[in-house]
Amino acid sequence: MKLILENAKLIVIKIGSVLVRGDALDQANQPWMDALAQDIRTLRDQGKKIVLVSSGGVALGRKALNIASDISPSSIPLAKKQAASAVGQYHLFNGYFKAFEKQGITTAQVLLTMSETENRRMNLNARETLHTLLESGIVPIINENDTVSTEEIRFGDNDRLSVRVAQMILADTVVILSTTDGLYTDNPDTNTQAEHIPFIDGLTDEHTQMAGDAIAGLSTGGMKSKIEAASAATKSGINFIITDGQDNHALSHLYDDQAKIATLFAAQKCDNNARKIWLGAHMNPKGSVNIDDGALSALNSGKSLLPVGIKSVSGDFKRGDVIEIKTLSGDKIGMGISAYNADDARRIIGVNSAKIHEILGYIGRTELIHRNDMVL
Ligand code: GLU
Repeated sequence: MKLILENAKLIVIKIGSVLVRGDALDQANQPWMDALAQDIRTLRDQGKKIVLVSSGGVALGRKALNIASDISPSSIPLAKKQAASAVGQYHLFNGYFKAFEKQGITTAQVLLTMSETENRRMNLNARETLHTLLESGIVPIINENDTVSTEEIRFGDNDRLSVRVAQMILADTVVILSTTDGLYTDNPDTNTQAEHIPFIDGLTDEHTQMAGDAIAGLSTGGMKSKIEAASAATKSGINFIITDGQDNHALSHLYDDQAKIATLFAAQKCDNNARKIWLGAHMNPKGSVNIDDGALSALNSGKSLLPVGIKSVSGDFKRGDVIEIKTLSGDKIGMGISAYNADDARRIIGVNSAKIHEILGYIGRTELIHRNDMVL
């Protein structure tokens, strides 16, 4: 565990509702948040970048909407849940804001819906925003945008959202701070013989069965959704850790490297990196570009595709669509996400990136297809 965390560069930390709610129903658990912010500061001092995905909007808005604490999230009518989240999200973010401020760290509130991670254009924007925040030393704190989500498009749980975010920004590790220290051979609440599993290298159906269906208290996902999230993460080469986050400083305890403190689902080797998988899922090219030999060798040496190396553009695509990359003789060499629409791409063919602003009248991206958005 220690080694995984030491090697991690970009970590998504998901926090469950139970952890952020204080004794008063509508207040954040400030001491817990303060301790978390301290732990995150330590990780950042080691050069790591951190993104939080935090639940708790609905939980912290319950009081205002008169939702009793013993009603499970799935039994709250959707409109009431959405209204509660609109109230509670403020308390949630405010708690984090104060905790991180004490560490001299700026935070950003980012509310995402399913479509932002599925839709290419929005995905491109959300990803660039997150990277810009990270590069500016800011900790993004993400939650689902519950007030606009509808039942059909809701993630239902932030476990999956945290993996989507990790895939989107190419994070290497997801840490789930939960109320359980990981996966057991059976439900430990009902079976005292259940044994904790510290390490899983390749999930099987057996593991899914061990997770069961039980969902406790305020949480919306339960172990089942965590296993599904673990599967998605590890298949795209991301380490996935579930640990009990209830103690203050739970995050720093992970470094203690005690086997029983967490379950590590090891990243699986894949020919495809995360982006490739994502591209694969959206592979329906809307157009293509032919590139010159200079651009071809730039791509082969791991660089991005710049407008200057493009000779022609075909098709009608929008910013964020997948397009094919072809050589001058028309051989297909790869595909990637275009940062410009087809019309604008045509206008900047062969142009040095410094001139893009002058030609298009806005400051766009330096690359037509960024390296991270490309599969060769
Ligand atoms: N977005 C919901 C909230 O803030 C939580 C969803 C979840 O727990 O997975 O309350």
